[in-house]
Amino acid sequence: MNRPLALTALATVALTVTTALVATAHPPAAAAAAPTANVQKVLVIGIDGALLSKIQAFDTPALKGLISTGSASRTTLYASPFAPTLSGPGWATNATGVWPDKHKVLSNSWGTGTNLTQYPDFLTRLERARPTLSTYAIADWTPLTTNSAGQAIFTDEVQKKVTYDGDALGWTATDAKIATEAAAYLKGTGPDASFVYFGDVDIAGHSCGATGACYRTAIENTDRHVATLLAAVKARPTYGGEDWTVLVTADHGHKDSGGHGGSSVPERSSFIIRNGPGTTPGTPAIAPKNVDLAAIVLSRFGITASDIDGQVAAPDDPFDSLVGSLQSRLDETGVPTDVKGWTHTTPAGWTIDNTGLGTGGVREWQGWSFTTDDFWTRAAPDQQRESNVRARGVFAVADSDEWSDKTRTGLFNSKLTSPAYDVTGATTATLTFSSHYLKSGTETATVQASFDGATPTPILTYTKDTIAKIERLTIPVPAGARSVKITWSLTNGDNDWYWSIDTPHLTKN
Ligand SMILES: [Zn+2]
Repeated sequence: MNRPLALTALATVALTVTTALVATAHPPAAAAAAPTANVQKVLVIGIDGALLSKIQAFDTPALKGLISTGSASRTTLYASPFAPTLSGPGWATNATGVWPDKHKVLSNSWGTGTNLTQYPDFLTRLERARPTLSTYAIADWTPLTTNSAGQAIFTDEVQKKVTYDGDALGWTATDAKIATEAAAYLKGTGPDASFVYFGDVDIAGHSCGATGACYRTAIENTDRHVATLLAAVKARPTYGGEDWTVLVTADHGHKDSGGHGGSSVPERSSFIIRNGPGTTPGTPAIAPKNVDLAAIVLSRFGITASDIDGQVAAPDDPFDSLVGSLQSRLDETGVPTDVKGWTHTTPAGWTIDNTGLGTGGVREWQGWSFTTDDFWTRAAPDQQRESNVRARGVFAVADSDEWSDKTRTGLFNSKLTSPAYDVTGATTATLTFSSHYLKSGTETATVQASFDGATPTPILTYTKDTIAKIERLTIPVPAGARSVKITWSLTNGDNDWYWSIDTPHLTKN
């Protein structure tokens, strides 16, 4: 199973590219050794309950080194009722690349009722896709690697699994053991993909809070463990022929006073630090999502999984072009003024029709708006806006509920219309978008299509809640039609919850 220096198909491709680049950049040196393809290696480090803001504030040279030569971004998780901000859902999301409504790990004590068999961890996917790859997982939170009540998050198909019981043996001690043992294994055996987990930061968070001295001590201790792992990797005799991707993440954050599980910003906070080949340095303009971690790991070995939610890079999304147009709050008093996160500016070619919209109301939500999770969920926590996990970056919102939180007259009537998409010669077209809709009263949420300027006809009308769904609609194209505009219409809203859409795309078939 362990064949670290094997030439894979991917490596052969890399070899070709490298040769071409070298040939362009430098004249070939007569004495140069024959070019060798680098072997891809991935190390994922999990730090339970760690906050990126604290890593950046404390004395953490190893993690800061990864950040300064790589990328780092705070990420945002769900909240209940979608899933609580607990370790079970958090690590299952990081490991499987799907959100909790798919993997169904919804607590810290799950039994057999999960979908971990259908959506396995990234190491198991690697083993199945390419059995010659070697994989490794080591942890001191036992349900990650062994789970007597049900399935562990990392399956028994992982080539080598090591479990220490942090509760029984003491977390500071088991974390140190993990650092020493994992370093030796990384240096000696050098598995192709590894997951190394540290639990003590979360224990400290519970004990003294994210603002407490013990939380700082635990994060700085863990940084030394990270340094030990990185030194072991660099000490490998074959390191020069290897491309190491290092990813660091967490399963949730901690309140200042300690604890998690709820919907506050720090509890919903995680992060992705990425370092190595394919990393765009700096802070991404559009933050990744925790499900992306598995997709990134698989991508390093040239493997894709069409059934996971994660993506290697932020998708092409017209709404994300508005990231520079976002504004500070006007009427939403719950949002700090430094959180810029809403606009009525539309992307190029998009239009908003507010004919029939009542007057007044909360200005941020007068008709369709464009917003972010950070802004929208702070405006009104615990109303399932946190469940909008399949939106990312900037998304569109028609929020009759928040609009109604300030004196207004009339009803919420607003239509968001796309640019004209080409459908020349097609018999059908496929419309995809992420959709998050909470139904309340007699409001109407419909998607309509207008071919070549004709009267729009409904192609979808919601009659019930639609939580964090990817819609994929096949639309018949009339004979001879050349273009279609799509309209998302929320009408007759009277303090009636909301509708969010993101990443709209139309392709002709
Ligand atoms: Zn915890």
